[in-house]
Amino acid sequence: MSNKIIDGKLISSEIREKVKKFGSQLKNKTGKVPGLAVVLVGENPASRVYVKNKIEKTIEVGFNSIEHKLSEKVSENELIDLVDKLNNDENVQGILVQLPLPEHVNSDKILDRIKPEKDVDGFHANNVGKLWSGLNSLVPCTPLGCSILIKKISKDLSGKHAVIIGRSNIVGKPMAALLLEMNATVTICHSRTKDLESVCKNADIIVAAVGIPEMVKSNWIKEGSIIIDVGINRIERDAKKILVGDVDYDDCLTKCSLITPVPGGVGPMTIACLLLNTLLASYPQFNQPTPDLSSILE
Ligand code: NAD
Repeated sequence: MSNKIIDGKLISSEIREKVKKFGSQLKNKTGKVPGLAVVLVGENPASRVYVKNKIEKTIEVGFNSIEHKLSEKVSENELIDLVDKLNNDENVQGILVQLPLPEHVNSDKILDRIKPEKDVDGFHANNVGKLWSGLNSLVPCTPLGCSILIKKISKDLSGKHAVIIGRSNIVGKPMAALLLEMNATVTICHSRTKDLESVCKNADIIVAAVGIPEMVKSNWIKEGSIIIDVGINRIERDAKKILVGDVDYDDCLTKCSLITPVPGGVGPMTIACLLLNTLLASYPQFNQPTPDLSSILE
C-alpha cells in the first residue's frame, strides 16, 4: 500500500476497539449497556446494506441493537409515534433514522422529533446550532470521521486553506464547522460555484462530497495537497460494478501528499463515528461524566 494512503479501514477498527473498551468500562460502572435504535423505512438496497453493517458493528462493540424495519407505506404520524416511543425508552441511548425517507414523509420533521441527546446522527437543529457555536454536541458521523482522519495528520490547521466541495447538511456544512474549529481557512463550493477548478488549485486540503464519480482531477489540485474523498459512487467499468469516489484516485495519487481511498477511506469511519456518538450519548443518560473525545481516541 502506498504511504500516501490514509487507511480509514484500519483507523476505524481502532476507534471501534476504543468504543468497545469504554463501553465495557461504562457497563462495569453502571450495569447498563448503550442501545442504538435504527429505523429503516422501505426497501432501498443501499440503505439496507448500510443498516445491516451498522447493526453488525453495533453488536461487535457490545452495544444493544434495536431494529425497526417499516413498510414504504408507513405514515408520517406512525413514524413520529415510533420516534416518541424510542425517545422515552431508557434502553435506547441513540436513535438513527436511515435516510432517505419516502417522499410522503417530511424528513426534517422526523429528524427534529428525535431528542437532541439521543440524536447520534447530529442532524437535530439543537446539535447543529451547538456545533456552529463551538459547544459540545453530537456531530454528524461522516464529517466527524473526516475530521478524525485529518487530526491524525495535523491537529492545528492554522494558515491552511481547506476547500469543501458540497454544501449538504449531512457532510459539507458540518465539515466546514469542524475545519474552522481546527483553525483552517475554509471555502465551501457547490453546484453554483464558478471556476471550481481554480478554487481547488489553491487548497491545502480538499474534502470532496459531491456524488459525481471521479470529478476532481490531478490538474485541479496543488502539489502536496491532502485529499479526503467522501463520495461513494457505483459505476460500471470493464463490465464490472465498482465503487469510486468523487476524486479521480489514480490520477491524483502522484500529485497529492495524502489521500483517502474509496472504498476503505471515509466510509468505514462513518459507522465507527456512529458508535462513538452512541457511546458519547450514553454517559449523560447513565448519569456519568462524559470523557473528552480526545481521551477516548488517544
Ligand atoms: P448531496 O447530494 O446532498 O450534496 C451534494 C453537494 O454537491 C451539493 O451541495 C451540491 O451543491 C454539490 N454539487 C453538485 N454538483 C456539483 C458540481 N458540479 N460542482 C460542485 N458542487 C456540486 O450529497 P451528500 O449527501 O453530501 O453526499 C455527497 C457524496 O458523499 C455522495 O457520493 C454520497 O454517496 C457520499 N456520502 C458518503 C458517506 C460516507 O459514509 N462515506 C456519507 C454520506 C455521503
